[in-house]
Amino acid sequence: MLKAGNDHLSELRDGRVVYIGSERVDDVTAHPAFRNAARTVASIYDLKLGNKEAMSFEEDGERHSIYFLRAKNREDLARRSAGHRMIADLTYGMFGRSPDHVASFVTGMAMKPDELKKPCGFPENLLKYYFDIRSRDAYVAYAVVPPQAARNPEFYQRKNLPVPTLSVVREEDDGVVISGMKMLATGAVFANDVWIGNVIPLAPEQKKQAITCAVPVNARGLKLWSRKPFERECRSEFDSPLAWRYDESDSMLMCEDVKVPWERVFVHDDALLSRDIYVKTPSHCYGNHQSNVRYWSKMKLVLGLCSRIAQSTGAAEVPAVREVLGHMSAVEGMIAGMVSGQIEAWERWPEGGACFNRRMMYAALEWCTQNYSDFIDELRELCGGGVFQMPADISVMEDPALAGQFTTFFQTPQSGAIERMKLFKLAWDLVGSEFAGRHLQYERFYAGAPFIIRNHAYRETPWSEFHGVVDRLMASYDIPGNEKRIS
Ligand SMILES: Cc1cc2nc3c(=O)[nH]c(=O)nc-3n(C[C@H](O)[C@H](O)[C@H](O)COP(=O)(O)OP(=O)(O)OC[C@H]3O[C@@H](n4cnc5c(N)ncnc54)[C@H](O)[C@@H]3O)c2cc1C
Repeated sequence: MLKAGNDHLSELRDGRVVYIGSERVDDVTAHPAFRNAARTVASIYDLKLGNKEAMSFEEDGERHSIYFLRAKNREDLARRSAGHRMIADLTYGMFGRSPDHVASFVTGMAMKPDELKKPCGFPENLLKYYFDIRSRDAYVAYAVVPPQAARNPEFYQRKNLPVPTLSVVREEDDGVVISGMKMLATGAVFANDVWIGNVIPLAPEQKKQAITCAVPVNARGLKLWSRKPFERECRSEFDSPLAWRYDESDSMLMCEDVKVPWERVFVHDDALLSRDIYVKTPSHCYGNHQSNVRYWSKMKLVLGLCSRIAQSTGAAEVPAVREVLGHMSAVEGMIAGMVSGQIEAWERWPEGGACFNRRMMYAALEWCTQNYSDFIDELRELCGGGVFQMPADISVMEDPALAGQFTTFFQTPQSGAIERMKLFKLAWDLVGSEFAGRHLQYERFYAGAPFIIRNHAYRETPWSEFHGVVDRLMASYDIPGNEKRIS
């Protein structure tokens, strides 16, 4: 099924419990902290519906969103990637956890369900869940990291406190009961379900925390504690165009005796397995290919903004500034190449299926996460003080005298005052606003801390191939007097 945006919005009015500080949000689709982002999510659903050929596929007599496609060949991977790109372009790369992100994780896992090894893994449940979310066209968010600084249970045990990390507190005939918290469910406020699991390794004895399952966001006992929403703080769309529409939200997942029926449990009581299921299946690669594609969309905006800002300040023709623009163009070209490379160098894996090139995907992930602040700094540098030269907000136009002064004095040879202010307000939402700050943090951490990403890259490297290169070279020479011919 392909869902319409309005249908998705109706589904979000389901009694879910969302808190902003002490304020309980009744309806996320109407609340000033979330309503515009909710509409953005709805627009993603409508985009798919309006572009069925490109953004869906047919299986079992039904059409499904393209990101549920279990790719069999290069063509399928290219279709998946193009679908991600359409979604990311719609949101200018601002929605990291758009509905195609976690869905791709689940789809990748459903390509190799036998990795959910019994008795602690439940491959049939995973497959059923995959078919269920694709037939509901569900938006799934995830919380797959234990809360920061609470990863050592000994402290809590010594003090006789409950361990805060989400874990199974009881098993019952018809399911498990979970309590505790998990970080950081981006987008959960707008999602149908939350996937709970562990993408970073647990110690083998952390069995009860190994629970991997999915629950509806409105499950009894589940609460989302939102970080400070930025949308609510916006004075107008003109003044904060990105925060106004694209604050995808981040929430702590708080569970108090949440019942999870067995059919929604995918891994139970096996700490190592709970992490392996992402990396021994295409799950992690499918999900993070989406991240790379989304980053590419964002870089298109950053590059365009760099050039527009330089035009606006009149610096665009200065050779040194053109060099900066050339550098930023190379940055955008680089991520474009890295995304395409993952498709061109695709892997026949698992049997009968196809996966993006894993090493290239991790290379892109490392490059993206490590360099985002530098790219934003290039934009910041081009902006100069122009961002603060503008009036505090566009209400300046409500007073005829001020409006007259503004439009007269703030025009430049390059552009009119309002157009200029609009451009600089947009740039500020990417370099300096709270929304921008959150994006700096997001791009650095969404896929895990840097050492985690590098461990993935390390794991996927065919070291024998590279050792062979060194060995071959060293074998081609010897101590003086014992030289070998170079063949
Ligand atoms: C905006 C945002 C959105 C997010 N969205 C989601 C989401 O949707 N779902 C989800 O599950 N998670 C999400 N996360 C959480 C994210 O996965 C984690 O932030 C990430 O895994 C890092 O964990 P941490 O924040 O606890 O940092 P920590 O692990 O505490 O690391 C903090 C710092 O210490 C360093 N450090 C810690 N241990 C080591 C070590 N052993 N070796 C070297 N350095 C070390 C790290 O490199 C890092 O610089 C999000 C995070 C952010 C910021």
